[in-house]
Amino acid sequence: MKGLALAALLGYPLLVLILKIVEWTGAAWWIWAWGALLGFQLLMLVLAPVVIMPLFNKFTPLPEGTLRERLLKLAGRTNFVANSIQVMDGSKRSRHSNAFFTGFGKFRKIVLFDTLVAQLNESELEAVLAHEIGHYKKKHIPKMLVFSALSSLAGFYLISVFAKQEWFYRAFGFETTNIAPALLLFTLLSGVVMFWFSPLAHWWSRRYEYQADAFAREVMNEPQSLIGALRKLNEKNLSNLTPHPLYSGFYYSHPTLVERETALMVK
Ligand SMILES: [Zn+2]
Repeated sequence: MKGLALAALLGYPLLVLILKIVEWTGAAWWIWAWGALLGFQLLMLVLAPVVIMPLFNKFTPLPEGTLRERLLKLAGRTNFVANSIQVMDGSKRSRHSNAFFTGFGKFRKIVLFDTLVAQLNESELEAVLAHEIGHYKKKHIPKMLVFSALSSLAGFYLISVFAKQEWFYRAFGFETTNIAPALLLFTLLSGVVMFWFSPLAHWWSRRYEYQADAFAREVMNEPQSLIGALRKLNEKNLSNLTPHPLYSGFYYSHPTLVERETALMVK
């Protein structure tokens, strides 16, 4: 219910704004609409951890102790600035476990799922965090953001082209050449097209996973902690260890456990 309310609260004004932008800016509306969406997404990136995520989960600082010390030492050793380590009550909804960070610069927080803290031992937790820091150090996050910004720019451009074609409306039984049905149809249809690009995106994402794993092995100076962590996580998340390569090649954003272990063991 909270999620639905929030989506309406944020999505509706954004949609109205985009429709207004079409009215206000004429032929080049798609650049302006893209700018508005990008601004909104960047704002969300800053606001989500502070305003939205606490609506759904409780965050508590990781208590003083050897684990906290160990993780802070890892952050120091990898020059990763973070002002706090928080534990999130992920167990509220599922056994799925994860670690991530939010915020920028001095406001960066490391977040560990309580399930992760319960399942892994200290060196395994350190290895998982090292993997996440690896994503950060290899600049995977800004690269993904740039990629997604460019795709949405292409998307808006395509809508602007389709919105001028009468056949696009008539094919779906619309009479008018108003922009609203074009936006709606494009949103509904884009999934059908994007589906065929997902293997490429997943291949890209799997490359990043291997790089982050390699980073973790390097800063941990051994592969065993990460392997131990991955084994436990795969077990708890009920992952398929041996999917058909065509299937995992198409659908998997992460390499399988066997593939990751193999890569970690190769020097
Ligand atoms: Zn990863």
